[in-house]
Amino acid sequence: MTEFFGTDAYIQELSHRAQALCGEAFARIEATEQYNAQKVLRAFMDARVSEADMQGTTGYGYNDRGRDKLDEVFARMTGAPDALVRHNFVSGTHAISTALFGVLRPGDTVVSLTGAPYDTIHATLGLHGEQNGSLRDFGITYRQLDLLPDGTPDYDGVADACKGARMAYIQRSRGYTLRPSLTAQETQRLAALAHAVSPDIIVFADNCYCEFVEKTEPSQHGIDLFAGSLIKNPGAGIARTGGYIAGKSELVEQCAYRLTSPGIGREVGCTLGENGRMLMGLYLAPSVVAAALKTACFAAALFELAGFEAQPAYHAPRADIVQSLLLRAPEPLIAFCQAIQAHSAVDSYVSPVPSPMPGYDSEVIMASGSFTAGSSIELSADAPLREPYAVWLQGGLTFASGRIGITQAAQALLEQGYLIKQQGGAYDGTKKQV
Ligand SMILES: *Cc1c(COP(=O)(O)O)cnc(C)c1O
Repeated sequence: MTEFFGTDAYIQELSHRAQALCGEAFARIEATEQYNAQKVLRAFMDARVSEADMQGTTGYGYNDRGRDKLDEVFARMTGAPDALVRHNFVSGTHAISTALFGVLRPGDTVVSLTGAPYDTIHATLGLHGEQNGSLRDFGITYRQLDLLPDGTPDYDGVADACKGARMAYIQRSRGYTLRPSLTAQETQRLAALAHAVSPDIIVFADNCYCEFVEKTEPSQHGIDLFAGSLIKNPGAGIARTGGYIAGKSELVEQCAYRLTSPGIGREVGCTLGENGRMLMGLYLAPSVVAAALKTACFAAALFELAGFEAQPAYHAPRADIVQSLLLRAPEPLIAFCQAIQAHSAVDSYVSPVPSPMPGYDSEVIMASGSFTAGSSIELSADAPLREPYAVWLQGGLTFASGRIGITQAAQALLEQGYLIKQQGGAYDGTKKQV
């Protein structure tokens, strides 16, 4: 790597040792990749996907066979009874919001079983009293069961929390917190506890960042409805936009009525030229998710070797692709994110700076030099400039490119004195050493 990027011999050595440490984790990731690639190919074959399905429609988009095949492939490969996969979802938040509005009715209560949901969902729920068409505005009540201090669900509290609720809401990914992601097994346990209170309760999962990380998906664990974004895992960096909702047929049908219009639902909606890319994204997703997972494990191992704390640890089980690294002070966060950006294929010459963000009480720095704007299955990093001074990173379309970005981020910290050459001698956040 020295030839192209001038990597210090010490960082090169750390990089080799980190990759060696990851051997077992990589073998697990590759086994899941193999399994998921088979499952996806089987779904394409069983759905009889053909070249004609890549042709887009215009206007109303009646009889768009590719659109129906896309839904079928997604449902088959995730083991869901039904799915709605559309470029018309503008983001993951839009897919989740459509799902909630699709199945909840005035007077219903939704209870989160995994503490506060991801930031962008707060406004959908109307947590701050939004009178802009939020769920609260439509008479839907929200309450939550907080996570335990260690970030795991309060299983003992589920029965009481679910009493009288129409929906139990579960977020599987850690999002931008230090809680662990929720594995398939843990998701199943929550769903079973909620259904034990009431068989009719709708158990919903925000599945963002979790698709293809394990061998199974939420419908296979008792989840009734789940949703996510196509510019994350299942789009594989190929889908240009979009999202999905999947689960029980009658629920997915209601969501289709919300996405378009009651009575029209999924029968219309032209696909322009997007079907082919969305299908190809699904096909590549098991391998791209494996690359992102390897990049995350590698980052954890390298920064642990350099004396920093990584969550999760490189060998720990994972249910999402998000990795946090505790860098202890604002300067190394900035250096890290700038180095990730500087080693992106797109916009490598621009340098991100911390700036205020709506919904955050501190400045945030974001690195995303991506082919698809805002795509976070591509190597990207975000860090709010506040305690515990952690950076959250995710993505990497290939492990080779992910490894370069992470290694060069360590190199930047070394150059700027935030990573010290002795083993375990990481910068402690109090003084800069060069
Ligand atoms: C990304 C994400 C969302 C929202 O997706 P957007 O596409 O950014 O709107 C929701 N929940 C979680 C856990 C996420 O990671």
